[in-house]
Amino acid sequence: MRRFAGDTLLVATHNAGKLEEIAALLAPYGVRVVGAAEKGLPEPDETETSFVGNARIKAHAAARATGLPALSDDSGIEIAALGGAPGVYTANWAETETGRDFVKAMTRAHDALIASGAPEPWAARFCCTLVLAWPDGHDEVFPGTINGRFVWPMRGAPGHGYDPVFQPDGHDITFAEMDRALKNRISHRADAFTRLVKGCFG
Ligand code: IMP
Repeated sequence: MRRFAGDTLLVATHNAGKLEEIAALLAPYGVRVVGAAEKGLPEPDETETSFVGNARIKAHAAARATGLPALSDDSGIEIAALGGAPGVYTANWAETETGRDFVKAMTRAHDALIASGAPEPWAARFCCTLVLAWPDGHDEVFPGTINGRFVWPMRGAPGHGYDPVFQPDGHDITFAEMDRALKNRISHRADAFTRLVKGCFG
């Protein structure tokens, strides 16, 4: 396992919220983070069919372009009765001509479950894969998951993606009904970050 040795990390995202979250997580380790937008990097096409494949595309493109170690993440929800769909296409299911519509995406998933005839409970999991890539082509991969079920109807305030239809195991509320701090402690992203910090920063 290669450890992070520099003081500046490029975070391969154009999402300001994600950047801020990652900066806060890595601040205790003396790491300064820089976002892809600040460096004028384009958003590469995510052409792979796995979370790790797409995370690798983003991290390696950013590391090559800047000469800095680069961190990316790719995430989504997998619904067992749908063969793992929407999976890497989680965001695509929300695309409309006027932007992303997650109520539409969650309704599509529910329609597909009804059409499949699969009985409830509908097992599902959120996945997050983090990739830390270096300019010389080396990388380290950290997967994170949280198991639960797809529930219907939606519960809680819509806001982040598929939160209103995901109920994690061991809880009787959805991610959207949950206190944000609790979600951030147990989520697929927290799981992947714990592994990243242990492997490369701790
Ligand atoms: P990306 O990794 O930023 O491309 O996100 C993939 C998709 O998964 C997006 O559409 C997100 O809304 C969704 N997603 C990822 N993590 C979560 C989560 O914690 N709650 C709800 N939706 C999520």
